[in-house]
Amino acid sequence: MQVLKFGGSSVAHSDSIKRICSFLEKKPKGRYAIVVSALGNITDQLIQCGQLASERKNIYKNILEEIEIRHLNIIRELFPITDQSYLISWIKKNINDLESLCDGIFQVEELSKRSLDKIMSFGELSSSFLIAEKLKQSGLDAICKDSRDLIITDSQFGCAQVDFITSNHHIIQFFREKTSKYIVLPGFIGSTLENETTTLGRGGSDYTASILAAAISANILEIWTDVSGMMTANPKIVNQSFPIKEISYEEAMELSHFGAKVIYPPTIQPAMKKHIPIQIKNTFSPLDPGTLIYVRKKTNISQPVTGISGIQNLALLTLEGSGMVGVPGYSKRLFEALSREKINVIFITQSSSEHSITTGIHEMDIIKAKIVIDSEFAQEIHQKCIDPLKIEKDLCIIAVVGDNMKNLHGTSGKMFSSLGRNSINVRAIAQGSTEKNISAVIQKYDFKKALNTLHEVFFESPPKQINLFICGVGKVGSKLLEQIDQQKNYLLEELKLQVRVIGLANSKKMYFNENGINLCQYIDHLNKNGHKMNISDFMEKVWKFNLRNSLFVDNTASEKMAMTYEKFLKNGIGVITCNKIACSSDYDHYKKLKTLSRHFKAPFFFETNVGASLPVISTLNDLINSGDKINKIEAVLSGSLNFIFNHFIGKKSFLEVVKEAQHKGYTEPDPRIDLIGLDVMRKILILARECGAPLELFDIQQQSFLPPSCSNAISIENFYQELHQHRDYFFNIRKKAEKEKKRLRFIARYEKRIASVGLESVQQNHPFYQLEGKDNMVLYNTYRYSEQPLIIKGAGAGSEVTASGVFSDIIKATK
Ligand code: ASP
Repeated sequence: MQVLKFGGSSVAHSDSIKRICSFLEKKPKGRYAIVVSALGNITDQLIQCGQLASERKNIYKNILEEIEIRHLNIIRELFPITDQSYLISWIKKNINDLESLCDGIFQVEELSKRSLDKIMSFGELSSSFLIAEKLKQSGLDAICKDSRDLIITDSQFGCAQVDFITSNHHIIQFFREKTSKYIVLPGFIGSTLENETTTLGRGGSDYTASILAAAISANILEIWTDVSGMMTANPKIVNQSFPIKEISYEEAMELSHFGAKVIYPPTIQPAMKKHIPIQIKNTFSPLDPGTLIYVRKKTNISQPVTGISGIQNLALLTLEGSGMVGVPGYSKRLFEALSREKINVIFITQSSSEHSITTGIHEMDIIKAKIVIDSEFAQEIHQKCIDPLKIEKDLCIIAVVGDNMKNLHGTSGKMFSSLGRNSINVRAIAQGSTEKNISAVIQKYDFKKALNTLHEVFFESPPKQINLFICGVGKVGSKLLEQIDQQKNYLLEELKLQVRVIGLANSKKMYFNENGINLCQYIDHLNKNGHKMNISDFMEKVWKFNLRNSLFVDNTASEKMAMTYEKFLKNGIGVITCNKIACSSDYDHYKKLKTLSRHFKAPFFFETNVGASLPVISTLNDLINSGDKINKIEAVLSGSLNFIFNHFIGKKSFLEVVKEAQHKGYTEPDPRIDLIGLDVMRKILILARECGAPLELFDIQQQSFLPPSCSNAISIENFYQELHQHRDYFFNIRKKAEKEKKRLRFIARYEKRIASVGLESVQQNHPFYQLEGKDNMVLYNTYRYSEQPLIIKGAGAGSEVTASGVFSDIIKATK
């Protein structure tokens, strides 16, 4: 004998009922108990009727009419006219009874749980009646049996408890006496010994089916629903979740309790007791394998976790105090007090010092809990032996579930380190000694991120998803987006990274797309669909998305932007920046960012702050980390100044060359920053700081080669005017160098904790003499590289190379 259960969505329309009937016709010969839910959504409508009637709202009549029409239409669509009248009058009679019941409720303005159960029973009674009739009409040996004659319960209306001894007796007797091949039964309903209708809890038709299957020792219990089985995680929260093929009863129980709404949790118990396999199948995709719940003996060490789940809206109650230590009875009193108030305890932990007990309950119960516990322990609180109950809200539980976790080390390590890496703070932990479930209490705000993080770690083979929030789509930013777009397939195939840009902003607009912005059309999106850019709104959005593996990328030169890094790092979001302002601001700020990065395990990379994409900072770090000592740094760090002095030849005036450099994108947006040497000062400052010197910008010695009126120019325009005015001055500097067969180079130096910048003329044998175009060159003279310096040379400016440096920092950060 097999028991098949069809849920509400599987019997929602005449088409679906037809499909079920033809499916049953094709089943091999045998006997089938078919348990059905009400037609999809009918139970909700019935509840609504009762509630509206109790509020004296007449529109309950309209809903009753809708319910009636829906059933009558199904009759018309399923049966030939000749068979309809009996069925229609059956439905009409039941609707009349229902209406009388609702009228009564309307009069007394009260809806008892008892009346509501009666009202709800209409749904399953009607669907089972119609389906049985349809099977008969198709020539099958079918009957309908009212489950209320078989399933006997107590009188806890709304969620009645089953009297298994009596029910099993009735069920066995009925199935022994009745020989029909197809017995259709309404799910969800039962009756008290006094013949009053009860229900088994919302979703209870699954339970009905399991009770029947266990009683008659069915070969299998098939649950036909609208999803392809129990999923590795809630698919509404974790897109990548997938159906679990096989699962043990215990795992299914753990997952169903934790919000995997595929099966009503009490369903597992009766089937499990008799070792009856439960197969979950999708009516709308019957070829999908679904989930088989059974006694699973095989252990799969490579897949210790079967599913991930969670409960939202949790509150933690903590009872704490020195008076509790070593005194038996505190936990008994705590749990008794909660149970008296019918408060369900979801989670329990107690520290081994016995100084505190923490329990998790639904947030809606906190007021009741506070009153009852504080009054239970009033005397101890008064005597200051314990503190008043502490309540923490806005929490949730996430849990990894799996039989195979038992005796296998590393699962909790993996779980907590991945949560930690994504800055998810764990407030409390519980793991039963059965090792089937590891639960962690975290902030509700992190729920989605945590589930996705755990799913990625335990179920997803690469690619790893990387979520970028990028500010600045100017010269560097636009090149970066171009490079990311060009490289995305390579990243996916070779590095197993799925890099998505979730947020994008320029100085005017910001635009977000949780599924990743199409980088071919980002300008359109920004202009047409973007909102007004505001840094705090941008950050708010990033917090709200709260995506795992998030990185913030700053391609601007904005000071305001540089001041946001602290917040990003504190939120565990890595910062990649080509903006030098943060690392060359106050030493304390720079140090703080580095500390935050370490503390929150959020990468903070700024390789492009010095020498664009040349590995200047990473090489320095590698030298220092491997124990080398930096004696001296000599460097040409300004691609723009080098370009300017290399092109300040022939007839061109100094101003013309400066403008050319600016036009080519080699200077900062404001060229004064390059020419007064500020940009180079910032760079050598950053290198000095990376060497461990706590220097400030004002500690850098600077010999400006500009006349004071140029250095003090109040605007870019004014600066150009002054450069023009002093064209002879610049010409003379050049002539002097040429005469001595030297070349002009703007050089930064760092030695013995002293840093300086200035224009120098270098001789032919100096490595800087041959420096072409906009190239940079850094000479590291170290303990190990003492005879010949370690030299890094190459293009040190330009949007293309800077973007590629930012890009490689992004890739580095993903590791
Ligand atoms: N019809 C009931 C409900 O919607 C029972 C069930 O479908 O399992 O909760």
